[in-house]
Amino acid sequence: MTITDLKLGLGTWKAPADKAGAVVEFALMEAEYNHIDCAAIYRNEKEIGEAFARVFGSSRKREDVFITSKLWNTEHKAERVMPACKNTLADLQLDYLDLYLMHWGIAIPPNESEALNVHGRLKEQLDANGYLVTEKVSVCETWEAMEGLVKAGLVKAIGVANFTAPMIQDLLSYTTIAPATNQIELHPYLQQTALVEYCHYNNIAVTAYSPQGSPGNYGKAKNMPVIAEDPVIMDIAKRHRKSPTQIMIRWAIQRNTIPIPKSLDPVHIKENIDVFDFELSADDMQAIATLNRDLHFVNPYAWWKIPYFN
Ligand code: NAP
Repeated sequence: MTITDLKLGLGTWKAPADKAGAVVEFALMEAEYNHIDCAAIYRNEKEIGEAFARVFGSSRKREDVFITSKLWNTEHKAERVMPACKNTLADLQLDYLDLYLMHWGIAIPPNESEALNVHGRLKEQLDANGYLVTEKVSVCETWEAMEGLVKAGLVKAIGVANFTAPMIQDLLSYTTIAPATNQIELHPYLQQTALVEYCHYNNIAVTAYSPQGSPGNYGKAKNMPVIAEDPVIMDIAKRHRKSPTQIMIRWAIQRNTIPIPKSLDPVHIKENIDVFDFELSADDMQAIATLNRDLHFVNPYAWWKIPYFN
């Protein structure tokens, strides 16, 4: 199975360690998911690994599930890449990953503190002016070390996340193993159509993270819009007798992107994969196309003062 065989997956960011295993087990055993998106920095891979051990010890076969994880920014130096991948494999109780992504195109020094920031990640070091302290490691060095993971049989494919078009253009100038995917924030308020088309043109699949705008992390509590409450989305949902979330997931699939909605709620987990019995019309797709606001909910400028997407 490769990423292009997939229609959608389950996200696990902010799935608390004490719930993540049960959620993944439910998705695989009760809701027919075949794609789980993990990351070392989500700090729940051990618990998800226990779920994988239970699931693959019973009725599901490892080779029928596509499992992604991600290299965190502290592990970009060439000599740290393989140990980081091996840690993830040990935590997830797997022999191989289907896909391993560079989580961001930015290297930072290893953390000295175990403190978590407001996003549940280890606190990155900021300088006296509030800018992220980075480490002098090129994306090229990290990518070449990731190619070594494929050659060593630890991962079937490698890719990137949060890459802009110039970053991909540069990456493609030296890759000997092509990036399988670019995982980026995509939803009706951040459509990034030109970047999606550019990736597809270069045979890079596009995974859509935060496909409904991550309402649990942003939304009303942060004075941010909730896309599920957009009248256009609500109207289309009503006409199709589907939920606003299902409309956003179906829209992502019909754009040939692979959404990875996250949920801790068994009803939502089932609802989010129940999107294959209807189709959005060309008019529906056009109405949603008008909603773009270029709004990044996940915006590192707020945490690192780096205008990453500007
Ligand atoms: P998301 O999937 O857009 O939104 C998740 C939120 O939506 C949760 O609060 C969830 O609450 C709610 N929800 C889910 N299904 C629902 C439904 N059917 N009806 C109503 N509410 C629903 O946001 P996300 O977690 O930011 O993104 C998804 C995944 O993408 C992440 O988990 C992670 O795996 C990946 N990601 C990657 C990056 C990266 O840098 N590569 C960044 C962000 C995210 P309930 O639990 O109550 O359902």
